[in-house]
Amino acid sequence: MLCDICGNEGVRIRRITRTYGKGKDLLVVEKIPMLTCSHCGESYLTAETLHEMEQIKLNRKSLAVERPVEVVNFG
Ligand SMILES: [Zn+2]
Repeated sequence: MLCDICGNEGVRIRRITRTYGKGKDLLVVEKIPMLTCSHCGESYLTAETLHEMEQIKLNRKSLAVERPVEVVNFG
């Protein structure tokens, strides 16, 4: 798989978790495929993944599963 940034071979897919919004509107999206290039060190999401993220955010009511989450304030 070629890197979108530098064009070299050596991109790895890493599954990451991202949170959007905050408080009651907090949305956690798990297992987002993030590409990391071993050549240039860039980490990025593909346009397709970003598009999918938009769809998930728009349809969060039907897609999301409620799960109790422990939240800690730093300090
Ligand atoms: Zn690269």
